[in-house]
This record gives sequence, structure tokens and C-alpha cells, in this order.
Amino acid sequence: MMNKKNILITGSTKGIGLEIAKHFASDFNVFITARKEIELEKLCKQYNFAGYYACDLSLTDGAERLFRELNKDFDILINNAGMYIYNPIENMRPVDTVNSIVLNSLTPYELIKRVVPYMKKQKWGRIINIGSISGVMGEAYASVYSMTKASLIGLTKSLALELAQDNITVNIINPGWVDTDLINNENLEETFSKQEIIETIPQKRFVTPDEIASMCEYLISDKAKTITGQSINICAGLSLGY
Ligand code: NAD
Repeated sequence: MMNKKNILITGSTKGIGLEIAKHFASDFNVFITARKEIELEKLCKQYNFAGYYACDLSLTDGAERLFRELNKDFDILINNAGMYIYNPIENMRPVDTVNSIVLNSLTPYELIKRVVPYMKKQKWGRIINIGSISGVMGEAYASVYSMTKASLIGLTKSLALELAQDNITVNIINPGWVDTDLINNENLEETFSKQEIIETIPQKRFVTPDEIASMCEYLISDKAKTITGQSINICAGLSLGY
């Protein structure tokens, strides 16, 4: 029997990350991480995940601690954890700005840095960053969020070039609106109801976490081995405008 590959998914206790983890639970050794140890332990037992470590990835040493504590070689990395702040730029608290930059942008970079040596050695690896359509198009009142997600596109393309000959693919998925806790956000809810959000989407529907997980499954598969450096919008038409 072939050994199962190790996959690390950040932000995997709910929303898109948990759905991705569930998708891969039977065929891969899935390692999950978020901030709450009790939840991670419960999910690990419930879905038979291979392991977990609780840590705050908005701290600059988060990636280093996560990697040290799990102490594994990863074949696949999915950088999914992220935070979304909806606020005019002049109202942004410095702590939220810095945490967003570290969690959404710096931590993915630092985790990739740590998984690449093993992937290079074995000449196989898959890296998927979860961006956002806001990083592709921009979003008013979500400037830091859009900035960090746009940075992941540059990171994805640069590393896809750098790692192409090592059989490591690097891609980014940019979801449109997905109905998770991320958008159950006080500032956003004061401005738009869920129905008003749906009205702005050409297909008049949210993207589902399962649709993001299915794209991850494809990008990891052998069928997608020539797909690298791609910025893939899964947004129900949002990137097209009206
Ligand atoms: P969510 O809020 O449902 O889940 C976020 C996950 O990240 C949770 O497991 C949470 O515990 C973890 N997390 C948050 N802050 C953390 C921190 N400081 N340290 C460690 N873990 C932390 O969000 P989601 O909608 O599932 O979002 C997943 C990804 O998809 C994010 O990168 C987000 O930017 C992106 N995205 C979401 C939407 C959407 O509409 N929901 C749209 C575009 C992109």
C-alpha cells in the first residue's frame, strides 16, 4: 500500500478550512491548526485527522512554532487561515492592520519557506494559497485585507517560477463571497444584509466551502500537474462586474 501524503491546512476548525480538511481525511494524513486546542482535539477525533497544533498565526513566530511542534515533513500545504476587517482606512486600529498582514500574508510566506526544502528533496509538492477576489479586484473598506490577498498572488507566481523544476506547483484560489463566520462581521452587517450581498453576485448565490475544497482536490491531483502559478477565481461571476 502506498504511504499517505501529509497535508497541512491552516485555519481548519471551521468554514472553508474545515471543509477542505474533511475532503482529504480518508486519503491523506491531515494536520489541522487554529487557535483553540479544545476544538482541534474534538475535530481530530471526529474526523480521524492525523494531528493538530493550536497556535495564533497572527503572531510573527506562529509559523515557526507550528512547524516545530508538528515536526513533520509536508507534501502539501494549504494556506487558508485569514482575517477580514471591514473598516474605512482612517478607522483601522494599528493592531488589526499588523495582525492582518502577519496572518494573511507573512505567515503563508513563512510556512512555505519551511515546507519547501522537503518538497525539493522529494521532487514533489503542492502549495495552495487561499486568496480572495478582493485581492484581485480591490474592495472598498477592506484595504488591508485586499492588500494582503493581492500579495499572495505575487508570492504564488514568483514561487511557481522558482519551484517549477522541482515538480512543486503553487497556485492561489480566490473565492468570492462564501457564507462563513468570516463575513458574520459586525461592520459589514451594519452596511449590507446577506440578501444585499447576494444581489451583487452575478449568479445570485454564495460560493460554498465544498466548491473551494473540490478545486483544492483537483489542484493536488496528478491531472493538474501542469497547472502552476495560476490565480483561480471561484466567485460566482463576481470578478466580471454586473
Ligand atoms: P472562517 O472565519 O470561517 O475560518 C477562518 C479559520 O481561520 C478558522 O479556523 C479560524 O480559527 C482560523 N483563524 C483565524 N484567525 C486565526 C489566527 N490568528 N491564528 C490561527 N488561525 C486563525 O473563514 P473562512 O471564510 O473559512 O475563510 C478561510 C479563507 O478564505 C480566509 O483566508 C479568507 O480570507 C478566505 N476567503 C473567504 C471568503 C468568504 O466570503 N468567507 C471570501 C474570500 C476569501
